[in-house]
Amino acid sequence: MGGKTFDVDVVIVGGGAAGVGAARSLSGEGLSVWLLEASQRIGGRGWTQSVDGLPLDMGCGWLHTADRNAWRQIAEDLGWDIDRRPAAWDKHQPHPSFSEAEQAEAHAAFAAWHDALMGAPPASDRASDALPEGGRWNGYLQAMSGYISGAPLERISAADYIAYERAASQNNWRLRRGYGTLIAANLPVDTVCRLATPVERIDTDGTSVTIATPSGDLRCRAAIVTVSTNVLASDAIRIPAALDDHRHAASQLPLGCDEKLFFRIDGDVDLPAERALIADPHDADSPVFYLRPLDRPVIETFLGGRSAWRVSAEGVAVAFDGLLDELQRLLGSDVRRHLRPLAASSWSANTYVRGSYSHALPTFAAQRGVLAAPFEEKLFFAGEATHVDAFSTAHGALESGTRAAAELLATFSGQRGRR
Ligand SMILES: Cc1cc2nc3c(=O)[nH]c(=O)nc-3n(C[C@H](O)[C@H](O)[C@H](O)COP(=O)(O)OP(=O)(O)OC[C@H]3O[C@@H](n4cnc5c(N)ncnc54)[C@H](O)[C@@H]3O)c2cc1C
Repeated sequence: MGGKTFDVDVVIVGGGAAGVGAARSLSGEGLSVWLLEASQRIGGRGWTQSVDGLPLDMGCGWLHTADRNAWRQIAEDLGWDIDRRPAAWDKHQPHPSFSEAEQAEAHAAFAAWHDALMGAPPASDRASDALPEGGRWNGYLQAMSGYISGAPLERISAADYIAYERAASQNNWRLRRGYGTLIAANLPVDTVCRLATPVERIDTDGTSVTIATPSGDLRCRAAIVTVSTNVLASDAIRIPAALDDHRHAASQLPLGCDEKLFFRIDGDVDLPAERALIADPHDADSPVFYLRPLDRPVIETFLGGRSAWRVSAEGVAVAFDGLLDELQRLLGSDVRRHLRPLAASSWSANTYVRGSYSHALPTFAAQRGVLAAPFEEKLFFAGEATHVDAFSTAHGALESGTRAAAELLATFSGQRGRR
């Protein structure tokens, strides 16, 4: 790398949904485009791992807002099989501490909190301030916040949450082959892709951008940066001091913590398909189990917030053991011999991601716009956190990549006009 004025026209930093989205928009524009990805694979937080012949989505799995989701359109164009059944998040398997009557109460409490937040957002912008004081189901609502945002309601901006809710639809669909498989399969062939190439420094000198990697420097006309906010806010990539506002914005839009742990169901055991099972509906740290997703012999466990941090701290083996105890308590002792740990995510421990998905801290929702702002017609920013109302999703990431690529193309054509 190095040498002439520009080695390439555009460098995309990061090969998740946003990076792939940017590459798709730049494809066929007559530009040389390189995508540098730190890890060994394309997809980022979209990762379908095949275990025991089962495609398991370790990160994104749901095509949220599926009716308007660009990934859904891409999957349809490819003729991929889409499961359009509604999610079973509200279809709980009853158990002694969560009877059907209690479930109805918990759902009503969620709806009341949601309506209060949407109808009269708290002046503090703290989503927790819409909770009823001493509410019986506040622990349940905090657990939901763990799954939805990866953080407790005290850390969630009401304005940010409302923006997402207003834009989202209730259609949540799935891909049998996996969301991660779809993202990885859609990097255009005319994008030069370099895996295992972590960008260490980004510099601009007014005419070009220098991207430093362990394999050498690369000079380009412009770059699109798509790394997660927790990566950008850390010192993993050195960037010019003039980008302090971007770094500061990233720190106000942190990633929450969510992890998935999968069990294989072996042999004949009577477990319903497509049902949720919450261990303790009054515990903010409760895991939620999704029984036989897509009718597969699997239990997918979702841990959000503090319980997900504990997996990082205590290790996966301890987490699997604790979850087996819970499942035995909820479903009877016979179930244990039918369950085998299959796979676990570790997004928070992943140096190139460092969490699950972004949420704005109270009063900082507008920082998404700051993070998305181009710099000196040279650096463009994408990634789920730059999306004002589809953040925290893979389709929001794709749209952000499309937006950043359009900004870059407009700048390039403006520069041609000025010559
Ligand atoms: C457990 C979990 C469940 C989820 N569930 C859903 C869901 O059901 N539906 C949904 O829509 N979304 C879901 N999401 C969120 C969704 O996965 C993300 O919002 C989306 O994939 C983010 O894409 P991105 O391109 O913005 O970022 P990323 O996927 O993080 O991509 C950034 C890329 O940059 C790379 N990188 C980092 N540092 C460097 C560097 N120095 N140099 C080069 N490359 C670097 C990273 O390796 C990564 O590949 C989930 C996420 C998690 C973790």
